[in-house]
Amino acid sequence: MDLSFSPAQTAARETAARIAQQVLAPAAEDLDRTGRFPRDALAAIAKVGLLGVNVPRALGGLEAGVVAYSLVVTELAKACAATTVAVCVSNMVAEVIASFGTEQQVRTHVPRLVSGAYTVGAFALSEPGAGSDPGSMRTQARWDGSGWVIDGTKAWITSGTDAGLFVVWARTRPGQGTRGISCFLVPAQTPGLTVGRPERKMGLRGSTTTMLSFDGCRVPQEALLGEEGKGFRVAMMALDGGRIGIASQALGIGLAALEVATAHARKRRQFGRPIADFQTVQWRLADMATNLEAARLLALQAASRKEAGLSFTREASMAKLFASERAVEACNLALDVLGARGYRRDGGPVERYFRDVRVTTIYEGTSEVQRIVLSRQIARRFGGGA
Ligand SMILES: Cc1cc2nc3c(=O)[nH]c(=O)nc-3n(C[C@H](O)[C@H](O)[C@H](O)COP(=O)(O)OP(=O)(O)OC[C@H]3O[C@@H](n4cnc5c(N)ncnc54)[C@H](O)[C@@H]3O)c2cc1C
Repeated sequence: MDLSFSPAQTAARETAARIAQQVLAPAAEDLDRTGRFPRDALAAIAKVGLLGVNVPRALGGLEAGVVAYSLVVTELAKACAATTVAVCVSNMVAEVIASFGTEQQVRTHVPRLVSGAYTVGAFALSEPGAGSDPGSMRTQARWDGSGWVIDGTKAWITSGTDAGLFVVWARTRPGQGTRGISCFLVPAQTPGLTVGRPERKMGLRGSTTTMLSFDGCRVPQEALLGEEGKGFRVAMMALDGGRIGIASQALGIGLAALEVATAHARKRRQFGRPIADFQTVQWRLADMATNLEAARLLALQAASRKEAGLSFTREASMAKLFASERAVEACNLALDVLGARGYRRDGGPVERYFRDVRVTTIYEGTSEVQRIVLSRQIARRFGGGA
């Protein structure tokens, strides 16, 4: 088994590490304090191709693959998790259009997403009454003879304030469950679409999360992405890939917390010696490092399977479940190592990591939803109940 990276993967990771250090890290604290959307950072990220890491070069992407995408997300998340989630969602939107779009849709939208002309893309699946169970969505799209008319409300939409393009799921065949859901491409300025005010959140404050209201929002037939009535499958496939991104994001935040905790343990002295000399502190750091390494391998395994065109639902779910839960734990342990300093708002970044990482066990499917996905996958594999 070869765990080394290709020149293209290494180059993508190095580019992300440079942008993270030069652009994201200096702004992260200010974004967290003000809730300002990171437009400048995203423009810099678009300029070096990182809004289309796994998108063909012909469409403006890097064409560096899924493993490179995972490496990029981890590097960015070490510096600023809020900017990173906007990057993850936009990459996901570009990929979903590249995979399911008509030639016209691909040529119209993907280069704009990748170049930053749309600022970023957004993914509108959740609703106030449909979170873990998006198949129960109530947003509807009705064909009125010359176009689709969308009515309903979407909730928790990442980058809602600034995204130039929304991928929106709506029910086109009432009463047909997940087989009656379709997917639409809706530009931000479309009449009838109203973006709500950003939610006030515990973490990821530089990532604006909003409601979207659709009130007689009219889009042409060409806005339909994939086949009518088959949009739910599009969403599920996109989320499989998205989970590799969130696993990689959680890993990046956890690694950043480990780095700060290790540096602090070597510097802070109590009882006449560095606290790094105490076995309890050493074991905390050892556990964090081991768990994060395992998370890294799970994320890379899922990424390499997706890149090779193999099934990866199970691996992506495992990676997301494990990486998010272990990264939350790592940030919690890092707080313990920092003692009172970790608890202070202006005591360094660990307090922010702790708030930012928490959502990784919630979005793109909660830990419970991952376990449901996994139990189904395991049952399928072993041919019995799980
Ligand atoms: C910061 C942020 C950004 C987001 N960005 C987006 C976005 O860009 N686009 C988008 O579409 N959505 C987005 N979401 C929504 C996110 O995907 C949902 O929050 C998530 O799917 C969970 O749904 P919910 O919050 O409604 O929780 P609920 O579904 O209400 O779940 C509440 C609790 O019940 C548990 N639960 C539910 N069903 C079961 C079950 N069958 N078995 C066991 N336990 C269960 C859950 O695991 C959870 O613990 C975002 C959310 C946040 C917080």
